[in-house]
Amino acid sequence: MFPVTPSAALAAATPVAILSALSQEQRGLVELLRSPRKVSHAGRDFWLGELHGQAVVLALSRIGKVAAAITAAALIERFGVRRIVFTGVAGGLADGVNVGDIVVATDFLQHDLDASPLFPRYEVPLYGKTRLASDVDLSALLFNASCAALAQQSLAAHGFAGACVHQGLIASGDRFVCGADESRKLRDLLAGAGHAVLAVEMEGAAVAQVCLDYGVPFAAVRTISDRADDSAHRDFPRFTDEVASPYARAIVERLLNLL
Ligand code: SAH
Repeated sequence: MFPVTPSAALAAATPVAILSALSQEQRGLVELLRSPRKVSHAGRDFWLGELHGQAVVLALSRIGKVAAAITAAALIERFGVRRIVFTGVAGGLADGVNVGDIVVATDFLQHDLDASPLFPRYEVPLYGKTRLASDVDLSALLFNASCAALAQQSLAAHGFAGACVHQGLIASGDRFVCGADESRKLRDLLAGAGHAVLAVEMEGAAVAQVCLDYGVPFAAVRTISDRADDSAHRDFPRFTDEVASPYARAIVERLLNLL
């Protein structure tokens, strides 16, 4: 394990991991880091340092479940992180989950996992579970941090006046969902199996599974970048370029002050 920070007060502390899906989100946080140190491991760059009095490791999940699981395992095994907080963007699936809104995950499932008829559809084989829960306490702090961030003037200036923070189930899968028919089908299929999904993305359930196995508390927040519909591929890059970074920065800064 690496020494995390030169600060005496933090010398004994094990770090909090801030795992970002997008380089745009991470950039704003690296700029804020005190005593930054870059460590390359497993083909990835990890930024160690101090943020708002907390020892942190900043990492990029990369895209998709496998890549995100590798990053999460490396954070735990190599850098000894004690908590993982994920920030990213997602497609809104439920009615009323709109671009500019924020979703704090209560739990995750993999919408593309199907080992039936050996196991019920969506169930993670050998876990006896379909939905993997986020850490309740950390998620409550993340919810508060997200509400405070959204109330901030500079975020409101991006034009999402009615934006709000939701809490609920997020579905992950190795597919960028970008079709109105596809997203409706996905939502209805999951609802039919008893899963009311708010948003869809490509990494969260994998990180939740790694954190469950290692006993590391995990919480995740996703800003809605698109509606997973026919215009998702146009809405996504515009949103991530202009908005994802200030959102991630505002939420993470507030969260670290609450820890
Ligand atoms: N060209 C992009 C690729 C992004 S893939 C890039 O270079 O960064 C989409 C990312 O945003 C994934 O990390 C996923 O978790 C999230 N996401 C946002 N909207 C999504 C949607 N509609 N379906 C699936 N994932 C989505």
